[in-house]
Amino acid sequence: MSKKLFQKSTENLRKAVPLMIKNQVPTTPTNYALWYTYVDNSLPQMNKELDQAITDYGMCPPATGETLYRTYVASKTETDIRQLRSSLELLLNEVSHSMTDTLSDTQDFQQMIDKNFDCLSRVEDEGLSFEEVMELVRGLISESKEIRHSTRFLNNQLNTASAEVARLKLQLEQVQKDALYDGLSGLLNRRALDNDLVSLCAHEQPFSFILVDIDHFKKFNDEYGHLFGDSVIKAIARRLQLSCRDGITAYRFGGEEFALVVPGKNLRVARQLAESIRRAIEKVSVKDKRSSRQVDHITASFGVAEYTPKESASSLIDKADKQLYEAKRLGRNRVLPMSV
Ligand code: GH3
Ligand code: MG
Ligand code: MG
Repeated sequence: MSKKLFQKSTENLRKAVPLMIKNQVPTTPTNYALWYTYVDNSLPQMNKELDQAITDYGMCPPATGETLYRTYVASKTETDIRQLRSSLELLLNEVSHSMTDTLSDTQDFQQMIDKNFDCLSRVEDEGLSFEEVMELVRGLISESKEIRHSTRFLNNQLNTASAEVARLKLQLEQVQKDALYDGLSGLLNRRALDNDLVSLCAHEQPFSFILVDIDHFKKFNDEYGHLFGDSVIKAIARRLQLSCRDGITAYRFGGEEFALVVPGKNLRVARQLAESIRRAIEKVSVKDKRSSRQVDHITASFGVAEYTPKESASSLIDKADKQLYEAKRLGRNRVLPMSV
């Protein structure tokens, strides 16, 4: 990063953090990036919308912040999270130094006030009447108290700000983790799968790939509600996670679909594994909280494919998907290919 750019970033950060605190915005990395962009003034349309939200709500509602972030900021920052991270780290170091400086300035200021305050209490009669002196003293005391109060406030605010900056660093690591995990199921997400498949294919080591799709899942949503549907997804995810021995990794592929990467195993072994998971899923039951009814007719269909060297990730997914489609067509609750 050039020095000029670096100074500008630091300047922005210095402005953004107090603004976030003032607007009571949680200092998550998302909000940080949003407010950083805001003070940077590089996207006037975003600033306009954020200002409008603050006018409308007296604050920035989290969902609005999230949407603005996604619309205007994410595409820029998510493309290279690593670069974002390293420039942020530089920034954080710089800013924590400058914050410490500001803090000690403020403390000096407070000491000065304290000293003046002490002198003031030692003021002797300088020809003024007792009442006049008392009036003066009272005035100065209350003024001084006010200054002390506002300095303490500023001090607290700056302390909070520098603590937040430190916390930000930790959260940044969390954000990288969040970027790979699915919130509902706790499994790795599609993005993680795509990354992993690309690296696996580049290494040309043998592995197999399984796609899992819950059968007639829509029916659970329709009959018991969307939240119940979510519980089914979570229960199946937990069940899949239990099968993750021997380096097997489970992902949420999307919606009610999951994927398993089975390292070092051929189609035959992966098929057997899928078959045992299929039977395990038949035993899964989920309780509907509203009706207290136990739902235990959950099944899933499986498409299995073996990686062949030089093949691309998308071609492998496509092979598994075709098998999955066939499993659905033949009546669901089965593993395809049927035998190897
Ligand atoms: P099939 O046996 O052919 O797979 O039928 P299906 O009903 O499982 O498949 P379909 O693709 O028709 O429906 C999937 C439904 O899953 C549609 C969508 O509303 C729902 N869905 C996707 N993601 C979620 C989610 O996160 N939570 C809930 N509750 N439902 C979801
Ligand atoms: Mg589906
Ligand atoms: Mg389905």
